[in-house]
Amino acid sequence: MGTKGGLCWICKANKATSGEHAIKKSDIKLAFPEKQRLYFHTAEKKNIYIQGSNSVWLKPLKICPDCNNKRLQPYDKAWDAFSKNCLDQRTTETPASLWRKLPTKAQQQIRLFLLIKLGCITKRLQHDKLRGHTSNVKNILDQMSNGILTEKLPRSFYAEFLPPAPGLQTPNLEVLNKKNTNICMAVASGYNLPWVSIKVAFAVHTSAGLLNWMQTVHVSDLSS
Ligand SMILES: [Zn+2]
Repeated sequence: MGTKGGLCWICKANKATSGEHAIKKSDIKLAFPEKQRLYFHTAEKKNIYIQGSNSVWLKPLKICPDCNNKRLQPYDKAWDAFSKNCLDQRTTETPASLWRKLPTKAQQQIRLFLLIKLGCITKRLQHDKLRGHTSNVKNILDQMSNGILTEKLPRSFYAEFLPPAPGLQTPNLEVLNKKNTNICMAVASGYNLPWVSIKVAFAVHTSAGLLNWMQTVHVSDLSS
């Protein structure tokens, strides 16, 4: 399953040995402030009991320690601040209205945070959900990596707020794959907390057909 060895998909320089939380530890702590028993749901399993916010169940995504500890810090911080703000103000403001008040730089950092999560999930599930699409997966991860390293969001990244739902869910991966069209492939996932829920998607190529699919999965809003 590629748990050992393998290069970090972001920098492609160091070994991917650092466990990246699918849902941020800070978000888990916000959701369960008083050491309540924490159960998690994934697509395959329900009610997994979690010992603590460092449990391996919450860390299925691997990158290198350098990217995890240094490169991603500003994006993580921007997300933390936004997430906490969404939680604190959830009775009076929607995440979308709080988003519109953010400075452009913070918005860009949050988009990159979401792009990294989607990239990690794509990488993690490539042998499962994306079997047989090696070149498209490589293309997607290369574009994402390039976007993160240059701090420029790729054009074919989409994100949108969804109505938040109770509970924590590990993100699933949706795959669009149309043979015989020039759309080729797109992947979508989500970052879902009880107080803010965002759907993110990334396509190999943009085209009219892809935009139709994006509309059916309601993805468009947060994109620049
Ligand atoms: Zn790295």
